[in-house]
Amino acid sequence: MVTNQKCSNCSKQAKIRLSYTKRIYCNNCFLKIIEKRVRKELRIKKYFKPNENIFLFNDNSKEYFVAKYLLNNIFEKHLNLKETKNKNIKGKLLIPTNLDREIKNKLNSYLENTAVEKTNIKILYNILEEEIINFCKIKGFKINNKDETNNLIEEIEKTHPGSKFSLSKSFENLSEK
Ligand SMILES: [Zn+2]
Repeated sequence: MVTNQKCSNCSKQAKIRLSYTKRIYCNNCFLKIIEKRVRKELRIKKYFKPNENIFLFNDNSKEYFVAKYLLNNIFEKHLNLKETKNKNIKGKLLIPTNLDREIKNKLNSYLENTAVEKTNIKILYNILEEEIINFCKIKGFKINNKDETNNLIEEIEKTHPGSKFSLSKSFENLSEK
């Protein structure tokens, strides 16, 4: 928690410090940054058609709570969003995740030369777990689970802050080829 320092975006008191940047944020600016990143991704990927049935996988995780909040905020009433606890449902299924988990899984399957699990649509794959945790704290969402970290990735990130984002981009390019 940051005290007596001002948000890098506005003049309010900064409360959020992130590991990969020297910029610090007030709660509002932080929430906006995360929403903007998810919004941009959804726009680029064009996952949804109007009036399509979309199922959000509800595993009661912190990622689920954040995904549900953001989808409702971004699409308001323009998305037919339903929830399910069944991963084998027919229809478009959105799986809440986080960036750390995605790069960890992709690195493992790359090293072991196994295929990456092709699931439906991932949401929040460009949001770090630490960002999701901050988001939940601000919004009062439950934090039920924390992922196991990968030592190699954490070491790289420590020496070169921001590496997780670059890794995520590289893996994305790899899988598109
Ligand atoms: Zn601010």
